[in-house]
Parts: sequence; C-alpha cells; structure tokens
Amino acid sequence: MTEPTYPTLRMYIDGAWCEGGDGRTAPVVNPANEKTLGEVPLATAADLDRALAASVTGFEAWSATPVAERTAILHEAADRLTARADRVGRLMSTEQGKPFREARGEALRVANTLRWDADDARRAYGRVIPSAPGTLLSVRREPIGPVAAFTPWNFPAGSPMRKIAAALSAGCSIVIKASEETPGTACEIVRCFDEAGLPAGALNLVFGEPAEVSAHLIAAPQTRLVAFTGSIPVGKLLAAAAGQAMKPSLMELGGHAPVIVCADADPVAAAKRAAAAKFANAGQVCTSPSRFLVHASLVEAFTEAFTEAAEEVVIGDGLAEGVTMGPLANDRRLAAMEELVADAVGRGAKVRCGGFRLDRPGYFFAPTVLTGVPDEARIMSEEPFGPVAPITSFTDLDDALRTANALPYGLAAYGFTESAATAERLVRGLEAGILSINHCGGSVHEAPSGGVKSSGYGREGGPEGLDAYLVTKRVSHLLEA
Ligand code: NAD
Repeated sequence: MTEPTYPTLRMYIDGAWCEGGDGRTAPVVNPANEKTLGEVPLATAADLDRALAASVTGFEAWSATPVAERTAILHEAADRLTARADRVGRLMSTEQGKPFREARGEALRVANTLRWDADDARRAYGRVIPSAPGTLLSVRREPIGPVAAFTPWNFPAGSPMRKIAAALSAGCSIVIKASEETPGTACEIVRCFDEAGLPAGALNLVFGEPAEVSAHLIAAPQTRLVAFTGSIPVGKLLAAAAGQAMKPSLMELGGHAPVIVCADADPVAAAKRAAAAKFANAGQVCTSPSRFLVHASLVEAFTEAFTEAAEEVVIGDGLAEGVTMGPLANDRRLAAMEELVADAVGRGAKVRCGGFRLDRPGYFFAPTVLTGVPDEARIMSEEPFGPVAPITSFTDLDDALRTANALPYGLAAYGFTESAATAERLVRGLEAGILSINHCGGSVHEAPSGGVKSSGYGREGGPEGLDAYLVTKRVSHLLEA
C-alpha cells in the first residue's frame, strides 16, 4: 500500500484553519523509516487566547442549538469519518506506525463512539421531585461549558474522539491539543466536523509545546473542565493545575495490567488471547496486558504458546501487506524497551524470544518474552508501554491477587479461569476499573472505561461518559408567589 500524501498541517480555531502566529513548527516523523512527513504548527499564547475566546462564542451557539439538530450534525460528522476511514487509516499508520487494519478499524470504531454519545445525549434527562403543591422542584443536567482536552499519540483517532464526542454531545465546546506526533489524524477528524456544519468555535484544535499549552488553557477563566489522557506523572501535574484553578478534571492515565491465569484455565487459549492483545499497537495501549501471573502448573505450557504467538508476529511498515505489528511510535519507547529488557536480564530474567531492536531504519523492537523475572526488575513495576511481556508464576491465588494489587496502577486487569467461583474471587479481589475474564478484548463505546488508584478518575464511554461534561442544577420554583 502506498504512503498517503501527507496533508499540510494547520490548527483549527474559530471555524478556520490557520498557522501558528509566529510561524514556529515541529517536525512529524514516520516511525517506520524515521523520515520527516511534515511540519506541525505550534500555537502562541495569542493563538490560544483566540481559541479560548472562540470556545466561549462556540459554546453559546452550540449549547443553544436544539439537541436534535446537534445530533444530526454529529451523525453527519460520523458518516463523513466512516466514508474516509481508508484515508484516515493510512495517515494514522504512516504517522503512528500501527498496521493499516488496526488504524482503519480505529477510525471506524470512533465514528461509532461519536454516534453512540450523540444519541446518548438525547437521554441526558433531569428529573422532577415530588414537592409541596404550588412548587416545582426539578433537577436539570446542563453542559459544563468550554472544555480543555489533551490527548496522546497511541490512539491518534480514539483518544481525541472520546473527548470531542462526549464534549460536543453534551453541548459543550472544546479546545483540544492533540498529539504533535500524530497531528494529521486529528486534523482529518476535525475536518469531518467542519464539513458537517458545526458552528464556529464549538471545536478548536491546537498544537504546541505541551507544558505551555496546558498551563495556559487550564488556568484560563473560560475553561470549565480539564480532560487528559496520558501518563500518570503528567496527569498529576495537570490535575494539580486544575485543582489550583478549582476546575474538575477527567484523568485517563497509565496502567500495568495484571493477567492472572488460574490453575483450571486452558493455558494455550489464554496465551493466544493474551499475546494477541499484548502485541496489538505494539503494546502501546494503556490497558495492554503487561504482567503475566500464571499458576505454576501451567506456566511452561502458557510460556510456550505465548512465545509461539510472539514469533508469529509479522513486523514491518504498517502499510505493508500482512504486517501485524508496526514500529514503536517514537524513539522514546524504543529506548525504554532496551532499558527495561537490559534491567530485567541484569537481574536474572531469561529472554525466551526477542529482546532487541531490529537492525533497520525505524523504531522496530522485536516482540519479547521474558521469564523468571524477579519482582525487583523495573518492568514488574513500570508500565512497559511496548511489546515486552514478563511472565512469572504463582502457587496461591491470594498471593497472585496481592501481587496484582501491589502497584499504584488500577486501570485494567485480566483473569483466566473455568470456574465461576474463582472468576468471582478475581472480580472482587482485583483493584481495577476495567476487568475482563477469559478474554482480553478492547473497550466498547456502550460501557465505561477508566481507572482507580493512580490510573485516574472519571469514565469515558457508556452512559457515565457524559457525566463529567454535564453539571447538575437543582431548580426549586415557587409557582404561586
Ligand atoms: P509523556 O509523559 O511525556 O507524555 C504523555 C502525553 O502527555 C503526550 O501526548 C504528551 O504530549 C503529553 N504531555 C506531556 N507533558 C504535558 C504537559 N505538561 N501538558 C499537557 N500534555 C503533556 O510520555 P510519552 O513519552 O509521550 O509517553 C510515555 C508514557 O506515557 C507511557 O509510558 C505511558 O505510560 C504514557 N501514555 C499513556 C497513554 C494512555 O493512553 N493512558 C497514552 C500515551 C502515553
């Protein structure tokens, strides 16, 4: 498949595409060959102020638009995204590295996320509370106002759309800083809304120096909600800034998902499912299964099947036919994989397969399986966010649960067992916001996703997905004054 023509990148402020005020740009790199694809404009403080001012006028116009009209515009944007899923998929694959099939699937999935949120907003009911005659006591749910959102590079369509869809469906306006590493996909998504007839200012897309942009947007009086997806350290910084300005925030942060394979599970089926999820998006997924705790009686069979699956992964440029895993998205992840593997091996872990960077241009790292990994190895407590799988064993399920819950993370967790009673022990025992039993499937728009502990707070998806974007207003009305 040929590389798509990379678009000229622009920001989108107040309904118009624009460059940064002072002409500053940063290069966007194709991770499969390290070549520069284009230049992303970086916002100045004045650009951000324009976006903030637009988010206020945009909010006035959009929140006053009848909900049926809003839904129609959002459905039109979703249809436009569906129609150009091929182009968006090729662009995403080129700037982020994931295989075209995954990238196109992501574009199609997020169009459905938008449809789901848009329809759900029509049911953002308030309630009428029984009260004394001559009085009317009610509760309304209203859009919170302009939202400032920040999204990363691992799901170039998924992360921005989760925030854009929820904000616009709820009737909010939004200023979003999508990743400077995957800006083309974000521009394509915004183009769908622009063409669908969204009023100017309801959606604004900026790029810039992340710390500068977040400090500016979060402190601005126009901003009413801060929504972030990314790492825990950055999430803590942004949550603190939001707290300082007394603004609510929605934090979708990292994880280090344990996979507990119980004594009664089928080790081969569990290994195949876990490996497919582990190497999806080259392991750069916040819910990726990343610590494998396998009952000692099954650990060899599990490891063998998992290693076989790792060796079957076809690595290459995401646009090439048959490729099932692309490069890592940037050189930071590549360096992190090399460090984590060297640290584990230095502490006595064995490499069953992989463990090295591929000898070719691009940020390719071989699917890696480590065994006999001691608890002190960094990979047992640091989120790998890459294609490295540490496998350890346990004999007592309570010990496995203690190990699984020992880290500050609490995003996803997985369990494999044939027993309903053991499954219930896992469900009750695992500290996680997202739990999957006997599979490692991804998120769905009709159910909420989000973490506990340091993995963040608030939920995206499901009926809960609009909660952060709506405020509750109690209205008591004395009818006979
Ligand atoms: P990072 O912590 O530097 O950045 C993570 C994201 O936050 C990036 O999109 C970045 O542009 C943004 N960011 C950084 N500083 C910011 C600031 N001050 N204000 C606003 N945004 C800011 O890490 P990275 O090298 O890009 O990614 C590595 C780690 O990030 C991974 O190990 C993983 O834990 C985490 N991560 C998590 C997710 C997720 O879906 N939860 C996504 C991407 C990365």
